[in-house]
Amino acid sequence: MTRPGVEPGRSSSAITTAAWDAAVAAIRAVPLDAEVQLICHVNPDGDALGSMLGFALGLRRLGFTGLRATFPGDFDVPEPYRALPGAELLVPEPQAYGKPQLILIFDVAGESRLGALAGLLDAGIPAIVLDHHASNTGLGDVTLVDPAAVATSVVADELLTRLGVELDAEIAECLYVALATDTGSFKFVRSPSVHELAARLIATGISPGDIARRIFDTRPFGAMKLAGEVLGRAILDPAAAGGRGMVWTYATTADLERHHQRPYVLDSLIDPVRGVAEADVAVVVKELTAGEWSVSLRSKGGVDVSAVAVALGGGGHRLAAGFTAYGTPDDVIAQIVPLLEANLS
Ligand code: 5GP
Ligand code: MN
Repeated sequence: MTRPGVEPGRSSSAITTAAWDAAVAAIRAVPLDAEVQLICHVNPDGDALGSMLGFALGLRRLGFTGLRATFPGDFDVPEPYRALPGAELLVPEPQAYGKPQLILIFDVAGESRLGALAGLLDAGIPAIVLDHHASNTGLGDVTLVDPAAVATSVVADELLTRLGVELDAEIAECLYVALATDTGSFKFVRSPSVHELAARLIATGISPGDIARRIFDTRPFGAMKLAGEVLGRAILDPAAAGGRGMVWTYATTADLERHHQRPYVLDSLIDPVRGVAEADVAVVVKELTAGEWSVSLRSKGGVDVSAVAVALGGGGHRLAAGFTAYGTPDDVIAQIVPLLEANLS
């Protein structure tokens, strides 16, 4: 539903006019040759990379010449995103500016998602945060967080508009990838404004079919074989979550090595798992390094999995959240199960 005073396709009123104005002013305050560091979250997904690179390209159109984009941890850009427009601006974390004049942060709900790059926030450098997580902890100096936005790219689009940047096909491709990623290819749309934004993006000449095939429907043979094993070992616990049911599985670094795959190929496995009819909650436990796991949680509406993730040191959205855990997969599941009961919705 469009609220009074909010233009269709625009972000909602969760972000005040003062905050938008502060963000525009902070960007206009730095010279065009200033060092500007863009950052997105660890283990970046399509929304993190797409909103960051789309925004970076917008800044380039405005004339900014000192742009670098990065994310914490291994410089392992998922294969499907390596050809995104603006990907040439990506640098590994150690090559990020040490003392940029401006920091822009995308899709980051809390400092833990920034790794060592969080240190930049304490250096007195203006930092603008664009995000859409209700669990956002309020990091940065200018916080543009709209929990009603389906993707961070919705917020990025609005800020670009306010800066006077016109969409072109390169910016649009990045923002479209971000939008399609976080809406599950437009399955989780909550308002007509999402499709209105998609329409504006597509009007630049981008090809949604080609993008979808490249980003969502293409994977190495080994990744498919790996998915078969991981899905094959899923366990259904119908009694969990007050009888709403939970289905879960896990993948180890040994699984990845056996199939010669990079960790990001595991990120899409939550989608078939969440489709299990007998369970409200779906969990995929993915090994990062020995005994350290990245956990994806999904609910169909019976549990607030964001609250579960926050209780375990993570964050996210009510129906899609995550956290980092330690121990064995059974240990991780044992931590989750009582919290499902405590967060029925
Ligand atoms: P995914 O399961 O796709 O990795 O993440 C689902 C949602 O939970 C995303 O919005 C993501 O940002 C959030 N999320 C995943 N892992 C973490 C985490 O460790 N900490 C926080 N704060 N959020 C997370
Ligand atoms: Mn996002």
